[in-house]
Amino acid sequence: MSKPTIPPEDDLVFLEESSPGAVSTAPSSRNVWRVMIIDDDADVHSATTFALGNLEMQNRPLEFLHAYSAAEARAMLKEEQDVAVILLDVVMEQQDAGLLLVRYIRESLGMSEARIILRTGQPGYAPEIDAIRDFDINDYKTKSELTRIKLYTTVTAAIRSYDQIRAINASRRGLDLIVRASTALMAQHGLENFAAGVITQIAGLLSLRPEGLLCVQENQHGNSASLVVIAAAGHYRDLINKPVSEVRDQRIQQSLIEALDRRRNIYGPDYTALFFVGKAGRDFAAFINTGMPLNEIDQRLLEVFCANISVGLDNVELVTRLHNFAFYDALTKLPNRTRLLELLHEILLSPAKEQMTLALVDIDHFAETNDALGHKFGDLLLLAISSRLQAALGVELTLARVGGDTFGLLGHGDQVNPKNILGQFEEPFRIDGQDVQLSATVGLLRLAEYEGTEADALKDADIALKRAKLRQRSGHFYFSRSMGVDIRERVRMMYALRAAFESGQLFVVYQPEVDLKSRQTLGAEALLRWKTPDGSFISPDRFIPIAEYSGLIVELGEWVMREACSELVRIHALGYRDFIMSINVSQVQFRHPHFLDTLNRALRDTGAPAVAIELEITESMAMEEPDLLIKLLGHIKEIGVGIAIDDFGTGFSSLSYLQRLNVDKLKIDRAFVTEITSSTRGSSIAEMVIQLGRNLGLRVIAEGVEDERQAQILQALGCELGQGYLFARPMSAEQLLAWMQESAAR
Ligand code: C2E
Ligand code: MG
Ligand code: MG
Repeated sequence: MSKPTIPPEDDLVFLEESSPGAVSTAPSSRNVWRVMIIDDDADVHSATTFALGNLEMQNRPLEFLHAYSAAEARAMLKEEQDVAVILLDVVMEQQDAGLLLVRYIRESLGMSEARIILRTGQPGYAPEIDAIRDFDINDYKTKSELTRIKLYTTVTAAIRSYDQIRAINASRRGLDLIVRASTALMAQHGLENFAAGVITQIAGLLSLRPEGLLCVQENQHGNSASLVVIAAAGHYRDLINKPVSEVRDQRIQQSLIEALDRRRNIYGPDYTALFFVGKAGRDFAAFINTGMPLNEIDQRLLEVFCANISVGLDNVELVTRLHNFAFYDALTKLPNRTRLLELLHEILLSPAKEQMTLALVDIDHFAETNDALGHKFGDLLLLAISSRLQAALGVELTLARVGGDTFGLLGHGDQVNPKNILGQFEEPFRIDGQDVQLSATVGLLRLAEYEGTEADALKDADIALKRAKLRQRSGHFYFSRSMGVDIRERVRMMYALRAAFESGQLFVVYQPEVDLKSRQTLGAEALLRWKTPDGSFISPDRFIPIAEYSGLIVELGEWVMREACSELVRIHALGYRDFIMSINVSQVQFRHPHFLDTLNRALRDTGAPAVAIELEITESMAMEEPDLLIKLLGHIKEIGVGIAIDDFGTGFSSLSYLQRLNVDKLKIDRAFVTEITSSTRGSSIAEMVIQLGRNLGLRVIAEGVEDERQAQILQALGCELGQGYLFARPMSAEQLLAWMQESAAR
């Protein structure tokens, strides 16, 4: 390792007499390294410039700035902060003037990049080590230490360090900007937005106003005719969607073509043309009016940005396609259900909703047509319908395809109404030279005052559509609030009921039936109860219709029947041998093909005697399909099970019909029992029923007896049996047994 040779002129600069040379070099341009000398000794200034005068780094010479006091330095630095190195005398106006200045430079001026070299005449004035660290002081040298060579190397190292710090800071800032710019861009949907964003973001990166345009190369010929402007900002805004050949400014055309040809960025004196690699020859180029040449750092920044964004531009086309896929129907190119929901969402939030109507248009018998004539024909039909609706109803409303053969219409109520819509189906559609006559059914929902979500709105329009179909094809129906509520409530209740049944929230209670005269218990009616986990009860009048509607009543009814039979067996076992158990049976349950089997199985499995069982069917039920019913009742009677007609008096059974039904008992509806004390007319219905029963040899029971007066009147009219709160409320099996023992003792 050879020792570096020290040149002979390496003497201590500050001991050397030197002629004060040129104080400052050429006026500032960015291509110099600025070195500031702060010293109250003029000799130090001249010795330093002499020592460093011919220093050049990266082809950049030094430029000196001179300050002869801390105060002067402050004033200069306030104006001029583009300084690479500061050579600073520690002791000037005051002992610590230099250190105070360092604090000012770093903290008040925020100049963190400039390198600072402290010099002192006296070794005793070394600053504290803390100050060196806190103020990022590069070097501390006594003047006597600084030979010419040492000064040279110290300053060289300081400049290098300054350059690195600056580059790092610039790229950190730049990267930060790029990341932010790219993120902002990626959030844009669609190529147009993305492209417009590119220009804005580039302008932002360069701290310029957005002035520029972005174009895409439609094919690989590379002439200006095949270049189309897809985004433009500032002065160039009118150029959107025009071929670049129409741009009058030759400079723009040429630079864009050059960038695309050379596949790189072009930096002009007052503009920049950026190149973005695209897919399949569809490259992009942007022209930005910068008004000045870009420095190296900005150029590097843009290179990174372009590389980053090329990926995005590429993706955005993919994203656009995916977007179309997700929001538009592939066949008709109409918005799909998802997109319609988005649009609905916007409308529901805007005051425009007051006039708006949503309609669902369902093509009648489309499935049959499709099956008969083929899917291709079906597709053509859908296209024909879509274009007719769109053409006839105008562009202002939204036409969407929400299902196979269902279209959605969203627009002003003046346009979106049954007359307009159904009118479009009067003329036949011509497909493949063939006339096809179609009809449609429409469900409508006025959005004024509508309070649900967009999903609710679509659902409600669908409810209206279903209702319209139910009534007749080729009709229409407007949604009304009550309609939606009861259907939605029904569906909700249906799920809840099933869950309740499975989790044991349902149970059976028993209400005694008594002899009005002796007040002895003859039997009881099994009644279903639903107690929700919060302890409240849901009335059977609400949930039984839902169980019937959903078919769950078949399972539920069988369970009640078995429960009641088991209970009956227990009661008989306790000695109440004549006790009769009444069980309510629904229409759906009763007409189920397996009803007789179910009944037989329940009797067999529980061992309940058939003669002690009575089934209650409602009067309205008894009047449907008489022949079938008479047959079924015949079979039930063969088993030995009795039949009672519940809620009697509400229907219009004729005497002869009742005779044919061969029933055992009539239950007077509570409404007529209530009436016997309040009106004179009511009593005659109860009276009639009682008379009727007597004439037919049937037993008659009055239900809903609540007070003693009712019991008295009923008894006087010849009614033998009663059931009601006067005697007992429905109760659990245990309570029933206790109650029976108690009343037997009375
Ligand atoms: P229903 O068969 O006519 O039952 C008589 C209803 O009157 C019962 O109502 C009973 O609690 C009530 N009631 C009895 N005495 C009085 C009284 O003095 N005053 C008043 N205000 N009401 C009285 P509940 O239990 O709410 O049942 C209502 C209906 O639900 C029943 O009418 C029946 O049609 C049906 N239901 C109940 N359980 C079942 C069942 O297991 N299967 C079927 N299919 N239907 C059932
Ligand atoms: Mg009943
Ligand atoms: Mg009843």
